[in-house]
Amino acid sequence: MLVVMEHRATQEQIDRVVEAIERRGCKARPIPGGERTAIGVLHNKGPVDAAHYLGLPGVKEVIPVTRPYKLVSREFQPAPTIVRVGDQRIGEGSLTVIAGPCAVESEEQAMAIARQVKDAGAGLFRGGAFKPRTSPYSFQGLGEEGLRILAKVRERTGLPVVTEVMDEENFSLVEQYADMVQIGTRNMQNFSLLRRAGQSKKPVMLKRGMSATIDEWLMAAEYIMEGGNTQVVLCERGVRTFVRHSRNTLDLSAVPYVCKESHLPIIVDPSHAAGRRGLVIPLARAAVAAEAHGIMVEVHHEPDHALSDGAQSLYPEQFATLMAQMRSIFETFEKHPMPDNRYA
Ligand code: PEP
Ligand code: MN
Repeated sequence: MLVVMEHRATQEQIDRVVEAIERRGCKARPIPGGERTAIGVLHNKGPVDAAHYLGLPGVKEVIPVTRPYKLVSREFQPAPTIVRVGDQRIGEGSLTVIAGPCAVESEEQAMAIARQVKDAGAGLFRGGAFKPRTSPYSFQGLGEEGLRILAKVRERTGLPVVTEVMDEENFSLVEQYADMVQIGTRNMQNFSLLRRAGQSKKPVMLKRGMSATIDEWLMAAEYIMEGGNTQVVLCERGVRTFVRHSRNTLDLSAVPYVCKESHLPIIVDPSHAAGRRGLVIPLARAAVAAEAHGIMVEVHHEPDHALSDGAQSLYPEQFATLMAQMRSIFETFEKHPMPDNRYA
């Protein structure tokens, strides 16, 4: 349920509605908008009676919310969320490119790749310090040493850095270094981790679980927003299907669907979807054509020697060409916008 206030509603009237909601055991969440404030009714057990609020001064209308997710939905917040990470803007109207290796392997490796992706036009640097590996015998990441290297990359190149947090135990450490904290596919429904992310002051990139429906994914984002962190970026990275020609199946229809359902930005990771660099390039172009708000792609200066995901890492020259191609696809939309409202 959403209580929409009149354009001229006073703070006192808003406070009165909040009070009335909380008196009935629900939680009120005011959402200031450009035009007017709306107040979300959360934690209600069962339907809420609109009549309780309709008569209060300053209330324009009461709208039922039909989706299981609330804070992430366009019903609650029609205006798009723009997430700012350093000097970068992620959301409607932008194409933000995050590039870098799967894992930070050494200072030399991270710096070499960061310089090349920056020269090609990437806006953020990625690199895992804590790696969720299928095998306990595979390279697990450099841990805090990897985070320190990421901080040096930021210092020397000016690129904000994105890195994964795998558990609550290391959350405070990772958020200290990262400009944006990544929650990986394997942790999308780690609810205690999501709640911890909800308390963070850092933007969070939430990857789609490898077998998650879109409703489950949006509910996971709801956990983060419910905790008070509104800076959430969704990342489609492919889901498990029966195919063998690619690591996962990139669900590109998720992009326009999520844009219709949610105000949160959505980006695409073609690398973990494809698993092979030959497939990564066309999928990245297709994601831009589907109007994703950004791309996260793995790049390595020596993929044959990478400690993880070498086969899907682009060579820096390939990344530079892909950047130019993606930019021109993106500009096509600016030159030829659709006349109708895509969220209608
Ligand atoms: C990653 O981006 O480093 C990663 C491990 O991705 P995912 O969680 O999508 O597998
Ligand atoms: Mn990887």
